[in-house]
Amino acid sequence: MNNTYTHKNFEKFNLDWTSVQAELKLKLGLEVYESWIKKINLVEEFNNYILLAVPTRFIRDWITSRYLDQILQTIKKYKKEIIRIELKIIENKDNENQNSIDLDHITEDNNKKVSFIKESRLQYNRIDPNKRFENFLTGSSNKIAFEASLKVSETISHYNPLYIYGGVGLGKTHLLNSIGYEMNKNKKVMFISAERFMYQFVKSIKSNDMVKFKEYFRNTDVLIIDDIQFMNGKEAMQEEFFHTFNALLDKGSQIIVSADRPPNKLLRIQERIKSRFSGGLVVDIQKPEFDLRKKILDHKINELTNLYSYKLNISEEIQNFISSKITTNVRELVGAVNRIISFSRIYNKMPSLPETKVVLKDLLNLTENNVTIESIQTIVCKFFKISKNEMLSSRRSRYLVRPRQTAIYLTKILTTKSLPEIGREFSNRDHTTIIHSVKTIERLKEKNPDMNNNINKLKNIILYNKENEI
Ligand code: ADP
Ligand code: MG
Repeated sequence: MNNTYTHKNFEKFNLDWTSVQAELKLKLGLEVYESWIKKINLVEEFNNYILLAVPTRFIRDWITSRYLDQILQTIKKYKKEIIRIELKIIENKDNENQNSIDLDHITEDNNKKVSFIKESRLQYNRIDPNKRFENFLTGSSNKIAFEASLKVSETISHYNPLYIYGGVGLGKTHLLNSIGYEMNKNKKVMFISAERFMYQFVKSIKSNDMVKFKEYFRNTDVLIIDDIQFMNGKEAMQEEFFHTFNALLDKGSQIIVSADRPPNKLLRIQERIKSRFSGGLVVDIQKPEFDLRKKILDHKINELTNLYSYKLNISEEIQNFISSKITTNVRELVGAVNRIISFSRIYNKMPSLPETKVVLKDLLNLTENNVTIESIQTIVCKFFKISKNEMLSSRRSRYLVRPRQTAIYLTKILTTKSLPEIGREFSNRDHTTIIHSVKTIERLKEKNPDMNNNINKLKNIILYNKENEI
């Protein structure tokens, strides 16, 4: 990486980032290190958290969803006060010493341009070695999807395409990744999200690389596309996708697709594509049943016990509480265990049941929390010192727009209301306005620490009726 950075690190920081990276390399393997960990720079160290930088949003999201816990654990070994990591995007213009090329930084005039195919290999096949069939737990809610995936990974063209659908956090990406991991051992696999596919498509058009794009996609033995519901619009792209899809099926390549809904419910996707999806095997993953939730919880606690090498004494009572309350989503179940652990690290004890309820409040059934649009609006108005009439008016003065957007954002993240429902409660605004508000606040939160602070304060007031963080 950039030398000046590393050099500065030595002078400015107590934390030896180079050692942290080296340890992560051992722990996560060379491939993960080269692709991700190496690209992280230490920017600033605070008392109990650190600010890290990565060059692109994609890298940030990938690291956040996959490696953040492990990075934090490793950092804690060097500086135990650190309880949180923040990741910021700082574009790294100086790519000279980088071996792995990130497509985000390839420009037309980059004279070190490596062939597209080589780059795309790096870019597309981000198979996570930690998500395999062996650590995918099964119960009645996901058994069919699991078995179909296993079969597909064993013999090509068994079910083709395989279409797996289900709500968020139920294990779709985990299964797709497991298939990719297995098949990658002796086949050419491409694992890509639909969003990424669209992005590369547009990029290839702009840089006149369409031929290579096509070649690359049509050359694969196994094409795995995650979250196909995000593929929308753009006639030309759907056209290309359709042809790629057919070409692959014709030559006997395996295709696996995931989505949050069945093929016939996909919006803005051509009928003929939907019908091809339905032509293979369509399986769904349901919400995990109680027994599976217990099993996952137990497994996760064991896994973390091994990682931390101390026993996590999460009582039976609390385990039962978590498995009976967090019912809709495996990701949140895992998140709950992580929060209990953070609590135990900060306070040096396991939380009692009432404390658990506070720690997990926003993961628990939201209706129980009494978080209503009404209460969010009242609290946000009071916080920004504006009246409710002003908030709900159509006036667009800046001092009203931000609080309004903030209230909309908080409603989206703290309640289960749909976008049109939220629109109605904010004086019949259109759902696109609601999306715009949510995105604006998400963006500002990232760029502006004050905004982030205000949001956190408001969240605490709304959820816990308190001004301070727990
Ligand atoms: P989705 O893609 O459906 O939104 P993910 O595959 O990202 O969900 O799963 C969310 C998290 O829960 C991941 O960390 C994943 O490893 C874990 N997970 C989901 N289902 C299972 C399962 N059956 N066994 C073990 N872990 C699971
Ligand atoms: Mg997913």
